[in-house]
Amino acid sequence: MIEIRKESRLEQYTSVTELSVNDAQLLEKAKQALQGSYAPYSKFNVGCALLLANGKTITGSNQENIAYPSGLCAERVAVFYAGSQFPNVPIIAMAITAHAKTFTIEQPVMSCGACLQSISEYERRQGEPIRVILQGETGPIYIANGLHHFMPFMFWQQELHS
Ligand SMILES: [Zn+2]
Repeated sequence: MIEIRKESRLEQYTSVTELSVNDAQLLEKAKQALQGSYAPYSKFNVGCALLLANGKTITGSNQENIAYPSGLCAERVAVFYAGSQFPNVPIIAMAITAHAKTFTIEQPVMSCGACLQSISEYERRQGEPIRVILQGETGPIYIANGLHHFMPFMFWQQELHS
């Protein structure tokens, strides 16, 4: 038996003022994207902003549906839009934030497993990790260089891509 270990590394910052201008701007755009959230069921708004290699910023927000599984997370709204409008343009960075109606979110909100799985395929296609910037409404900011820091053992079938 051997033990397989994978390391996750997150940088934690206490304030937006510690971030680079690019990271701070992208996080601000994710916060603005909260305005487009449609979350009458969860009352949990999520905003996402992407910086593409062509300099464009794409935003998305969660879109719910009364048939719950038919809705979509903010991250996939943004990434699928980017993939369809700008195919083959790498995603440099992704900022995610959230707002809840009934309480203050004081910690960064991680992407769900379905988003990590979906977006990791864009990382594989572009061959470069996506910088991930997370913050709640207040509290610390987490930054990671690549989605594998959040989900180290993702589904992948090499045979399907050879
Ligand atoms: Zn998700």
